[in-house]
Amino acid sequence: IDTKLPKVGTTIFSVMSQLALEHKAVNLGQGFPDFEPPLGLRDALARAMNEGRNQYAPMHGTAPLREQIASKTERMYGHRPDVDAEITVTSGATEALFAAIAAVVRAGEEVIVFDPSYDSYEPAIELQGAKAVHIPLIAPAFSVDWQRVRDAVTPRTRMILINSPHNPSGAVLSAADLEELAAIVRGTDIVVLSDEVYEHIVYDGRQHESVLRHPELAARSFVISSFGKTYHCTGWKLGYAVAPRALTVEFRKVHQYLTFCSFHPAQAAFAEFLASDPQHYLELPAFYQAKRDRFRALLAPSRFKLLDVPGGYFQLVDYSAIRDEDDLAFSRWLVEQGGVAAIPLTPFCEAAPGTRLLRLCFAKSDVTMEAAAERLCRL
Ligand code: PMP
Ligand code: GLN
Repeated sequence: IDTKLPKVGTTIFSVMSQLALEHKAVNLGQGFPDFEPPLGLRDALARAMNEGRNQYAPMHGTAPLREQIASKTERMYGHRPDVDAEITVTSGATEALFAAIAAVVRAGEEVIVFDPSYDSYEPAIELQGAKAVHIPLIAPAFSVDWQRVRDAVTPRTRMILINSPHNPSGAVLSAADLEELAAIVRGTDIVVLSDEVYEHIVYDGRQHESVLRHPELAARSFVISSFGKTYHCTGWKLGYAVAPRALTVEFRKVHQYLTFCSFHPAQAAFAEFLASDPQHYLELPAFYQAKRDRFRALLAPSRFKLLDVPGGYFQLVDYSAIRDEDDLAFSRWLVEQGGVAAIPLTPFCEAAPGTRLLRLCFAKSDVTMEAAAERLCRL
């Protein structure tokens, strides 16, 4: 048939998880924890199902959950979104990203994205008949060249999509970066879409610079969060979007016909859990920093070169000392011959990046990390 998405195949996350199964490889590819969500949260989910929260939730999310989100957002970023008008609960961050793009981007318009970037952005843009304008981040720190962004803005630019902490590199935007962005969008009608799903996972004493800390940007932004990332339950597919009233109105026009509402029992569980344990996410930096440091120590004897990881739960490694081939070929060899599944960066970029980098997920138990490291150190 005449496909609408000629460049799109099956997402690399499914491809690599399938290969990991076939080759009995340790799966450090697709980003998900191999440990369980907090017990209190699982209990709350079971209770919610046993107590009859099994029918449709309100379209924009339950009131107790939106109340908890507003309080948490205020505690974290000093910005309290309006509980009724500025928060929408979604079926994961993936749905929120799609709904935000579909709500404001028209055919023929342009959305600025940074390469490498998460693989769901571009298809969502293309399905609107719009164009993704790719700006490469500058390796090895994966920083933004704001002059290039300024030069890329045209009268057709409708949106700039940022992601901090960044998948796949872990780079984090600074307050100065947000100032640069604010200066670029000031006086335009450009909307910012800020993917902050790793907001609680930053290291070495860093602070996450949410767009919500920046009132001028917050006034024109969708900010996207994922309960899956924060509470180790990626399979529950619950997230949310915070946006000013006018943007939220448009967002909900899409959300109500994309899914109508999201998994009701999980909304009840999170409302209860956030009220009873408002600490969990404050412990995430130390929790994941210990994993990051353990993983890096395990890989130190290997021939992989480890890039810095300021945030997120992925480690980029340079494999050029092991084999001289592109990342698609190397990741296939690694899963088939090396027994470890990883994610290449090419599917996150418009053009093959030309680097010799792979992404490894360290949201894993010690046993998994050790099994992977033993294999990786043999190469
Ligand atoms: N954005 C980024 C940067 C991600 O890494 C992910 C998940 N890997 C998502 C969005 C999607 O989140 P969710 O699972 O909540 O849909
Ligand atoms: N966000 C996860 C990652 O980057 C995977 C999400 C997915 O499989 N769609 O690995």
